[in-house]
Amino acid sequence: MEILIQYITLVAFIFLRYLVLAGIPFLLVYKIFTNKMIKAKIQKKIASKKDFLREVKHSLVTTTAFGTIAMLVFFTPLKEYTNIYSEISDFSIIWLPISVVLSLIIHDTYFYWMHRTLHHPKLFRTTHLVHHQSKNPSPWASYSFHIIESFLEAFIVVVLVFIMPIHPIAIALFGLMSFIINVYGHLGYEVAPKWFRHSVFFEMINSSVYHNLHHSKFKGNYGLYFRFWDRVMRTENPKYVEMYDKIQMQRFPDDVLVNSDSPQRTVLEV
Ligand SMILES: [Zn+2]
Ligand SMILES: [Zn+2]
Repeated sequence: MEILIQYITLVAFIFLRYLVLAGIPFLLVYKIFTNKMIKAKIQKKIASKKDFLREVKHSLVTTTAFGTIAMLVFFTPLKEYTNIYSEISDFSIIWLPISVVLSLIIHDTYFYWMHRTLHHPKLFRTTHLVHHQSKNPSPWASYSFHIIESFLEAFIVVVLVFIMPIHPIAIALFGLMSFIINVYGHLGYEVAPKWFRHSVFFEMINSSVYHNLHHSKFKGNYGLYFRFWDRVMRTENPKYVEMYDKIQMQRFPDDVLVNSDSPQRTVLEV
């Protein structure tokens, strides 16, 4: 009985986190500042209420998968076989932030290859199609997966706790950061600051435009946080930078953009 209550509490917490962290950006961007945000909109069309409801329904299924995996890892005898440690002092304090960063890097690699596998024609229709029903994603699409994909998504936690020492705080921070980045990727609006385009981070990290292109074109831009694997495997959408610049030129019309193919500073014509 106690284990059932623990499980229900865990699922309820994960779903509440989803409702709050996807709901606040949704309210701000889609309901309160709609007119102010119009220039940041990536696709012209507005997703329908039907899309939002479908995404929330599938996300409820996903939270049960996440809750199941978290339950197995943290609250069953399986925990004894993992590398989870409970005393922060067991390892150097610096290991805590390092393990969070490493988790994001490992997750990006795990996600890229899992995601590409799910795009295989033999698997796509029965699994990943649920996520791709959102051609014009909103924050509600962040957890909108088929049940099989939900378990594959949650399985990264199993991978992490078996391959490196990790504290529950690091897992919680990783989960929180991962979800916030996920919501940004599905926001439907580009909100990256102007300086991002001119920084080295633009070459390394993806953006909301990046993942939005994956949803609108179905192909390319498979990465979760970084551009690394898409660049190495040549799966990045060749129109990505042009699309990104087009949206940012709408938002910051006076800006002079740096053409990524040339060291010279040029004004991009859109
Ligand atoms: Zn996909
Ligand atoms: Zn997506």
